[in-house]
Amino acid sequence: MEKYDIAIIGGGLLGTSISYWISNLYDAKVAVIEKESEVGMHTSSRNTGVVHSPFYLNPDKKGKLARAAFLSHEMWKTFAQTKGLPWNMVGTMEIALDENQHKILEKYMDWGPKNGMSEKDADLLNSNEVTQREPNIRCHSAIHCKTDAVVDYGEFTRKLKEESQRNGTKFLLNKKLESIEDLDGSTTLAFQNKEKISSKIIVNCAGGYSLDIAKKFGLANDYSSLHFRGEYWIASEQYSNLVKTNVYSVPKYPDFPFLDPHWIIRSDGKSEVGPNAVPVSSPETYSGYVGDIETFISKLTEVVTGSTRKLLLNADFMNLVAKEWLSSLSKTVMIERIQEFMPKVKPEFFSERGTAGIRTPLITPDGNFLPDVLELSGLNSYHILNYNSPGATGAPAYSAYVVKSMQEKGLLQYKTRKTDSIWDFETIV
Ligand SMILES: Cc1cc2nc3c(=O)[nH]c(=O)nc-3n(C[C@H](O)[C@H](O)[C@H](O)COP(=O)(O)OP(=O)(O)OC[C@H]3O[C@@H](n4cnc5c(N)ncnc54)[C@H](O)[C@@H]3O)c2cc1C
Repeated sequence: MEKYDIAIIGGGLLGTSISYWISNLYDAKVAVIEKESEVGMHTSSRNTGVVHSPFYLNPDKKGKLARAAFLSHEMWKTFAQTKGLPWNMVGTMEIALDENQHKILEKYMDWGPKNGMSEKDADLLNSNEVTQREPNIRCHSAIHCKTDAVVDYGEFTRKLKEESQRNGTKFLLNKKLESIEDLDGSTTLAFQNKEKISSKIIVNCAGGYSLDIAKKFGLANDYSSLHFRGEYWIASEQYSNLVKTNVYSVPKYPDFPFLDPHWIIRSDGKSEVGPNAVPVSSPETYSGYVGDIETFISKLTEVVTGSTRKLLLNADFMNLVAKEWLSSLSKTVMIERIQEFMPKVKPEFFSERGTAGIRTPLITPDGNFLPDVLELSGLNSYHILNYNSPGATGAPAYSAYVVKSMQEKGLLQYKTRKTDSIWDFETIV
């Protein structure tokens, strides 16, 4: 049985970034365990592709994700330039439709600098100023954030894997973790194909499955999770220039972990609308439906723990679920949500579905969505749960923070080394 010092479960952007830092800093035997044939096949490739500036993140509720997003912006820019990958600074218009939403934009103008942004990065515009820049947007007011970029995070993950491999990390692909066994200071991991490895330290970065894996280690037993599929529609070429920047709207339900669908520019220049947030039964239900709402809810109540049941009694949440469900079944309903701020858009402008992705937010024991990322440590293990948007943006800085926390907990007692790095660890942490 092959023995490792550190085994990272999950070859998404997070697991790959952590492997990069550890292999860069330590003379240790590192493996990344991934059930697919390549890294970044799930959420890390199935997202909106925006490098977010954290003006819209409440520093008191989402401080870790916000700080990581701020620090990572320059890191990704350098990475894209060094590797010759697309980096398109299209900017974002975050629009308010009425005076109440405008007040939220005013709050955002404070949050941006609190999260580290320069005041010059975002302007608060009135309706006329918005229309002068983007004639096809109708709104009460908007923040124009100039620094948001669009990229291909799947490509970022694969390129970062190459860097990590250069440092000596082994990527064990097509290995689905099934069970674990603790043996005197080292953990045996058994895969679906019956192979086994052992490792002194385990890092759990399994995305939508990270809660299930934490529970195998006896952690987070009071938490549950739900899965929401985000679907997109691609604009036909002749309509892709209707608006040249991303357009997001102030969320109507800020306590829920998803935004209303937006207009987005992709790194290849195409435009799409999405994502909605359709409840589905697993972190990888990318297509198909689970029946009507009633059947789905009763299915959910069968499988969920007490904490999720409390959420299902929340009327706002259930209204939202119904709305999201309809926007999945009907393209027209999805486009009507975009027409609120882009009245010229019509359902017939969109004939092809984009790539869907799934968010898996954690539900706390008292039945609320957990707003920020959750780190848990076991005896010889470290678990990252609820690593949701803007997690792709924040991955390089957040993973450095994880490595720093593991150092402080004494989980990385290996000989250090200094290999050339794209980014400087000490400056970031
Ligand atoms: C619709 C949508 C839009 C988004 N848009 C943005 C955006 O514009 N900007 C942004 O910054 N963020 C965005 N995000 C969030 C971002 O994509 C995620 O935070 C990030 O990709 C999470 O990376 P990860 O490595 O944790 O998860 P993943 O990429 O899902 O990786 C987890 C990996 O673990 C593997 N795995 C799971 N279980 C096992 C097992 N048992 N054995 C072996 N391997 C296993 C999986 O195969 C997978 O490859 C979006 C997310 C969604 C869903």
